[in-house]
Amino acid sequence: ARQFTRPLNDLANQFNTLLSAVAGAERVFEILDEEEEESDEGEASYLPIKKGEIAFKDVTFSYEKGNKTVENITFHVSPGETVAFVGPTGAGKTTIINLLSRFYQADSGQILIDGHEIHTMTRASLRENMGFVLQDSFLFEGTIMENIRYGKLDASDEEVIESAKLANAHTFIMKLPQKYNTVLKQDGSGISQGQKQLLSIARALLADPTLLILDEATSSIDTITEVKIQEALQRLMKGRTSVVIAHRLNTIQKADQIFVLSDGSIIERGSHQELLNQNGFYAELFQNQLQNGAM
Ligand code: ADP
Repeated sequence: ARQFTRPLNDLANQFNTLLSAVAGAERVFEILDEEEEESDEGEASYLPIKKGEIAFKDVTFSYEKGNKTVENITFHVSPGETVAFVGPTGAGKTTIINLLSRFYQADSGQILIDGHEIHTMTRASLRENMGFVLQDSFLFEGTIMENIRYGKLDASDEEVIESAKLANAHTFIMKLPQKYNTVLKQDGSGISQGQKQLLSIARALLADPTLLILDEATSSIDTITEVKIQEALQRLMKGRTSVVIAHRLNTIQKADQIFVLSDGSIIERGSHQELLNQNGFYAELFQNQLQNGAM
């Protein structure tokens, strides 16, 4: 398989390494652009994501030869829909996101965004309109203001603060002695896991992407912060296409479509209610989650 740039799992780490090596966030964008332009195929052109429509057609991919990681993946997401991928660890959820983000290229099949095959779209056009909220937030050593502004480098302080308010982050930020000027350590220590997530939601709200990729956190977070996160996520997902690796019942139940992955294949699909009625794998996962509080 051909690998392009950075797979999702390594993204946060590489990001931090990169950020600590250079002075400002703008420079990072320049470096990413330079690097990626080299690896863009000649035929790719600048095609910004406008609608956020996604289609996978019979997509198969292996990280290693002879060992198919995902096989015959077909699905369609209409603009503005929320879709959830659920399934056991190792089923291929992250791999599908890696393919959609063009961190890897499919071995066969087609992946289209707004009707364009993604290998005809430059990475800059993909990245500009794709927002990520991942389990490991990309925090870098810098102030909270700078960390949120990374979503839109020319944003004013007022815009940053407005996003923080929508993300339910403003209140905790204002309680810190240095407020928005609080310097975050590279490892994000000093604020809680949940607060890091609120900051990454603020950053994504500021970026206002057409297409949102969300890898929900599995770690347990106190109930009050969890409610704040869920509320902020609802605001973030509203009105834009959202592809979620879902662990939270709340998100799953509200999804327009749920794709159940097992061993690299979509084995069930439908709304929450439809899947419960099928009384198959999903219904069993759901029962387990109700009992254990985790999916
Ligand atoms: P999920 O997100 O559902 O937990 P993944 O998409 O991360 O599943 O992984 C699917 C399979 O691919 C797993 O067997 C995993 O070990 C394997 N895998 C993931 N990343 C890589 C990689 N970079 N190289 C080789 N195998 C990988």
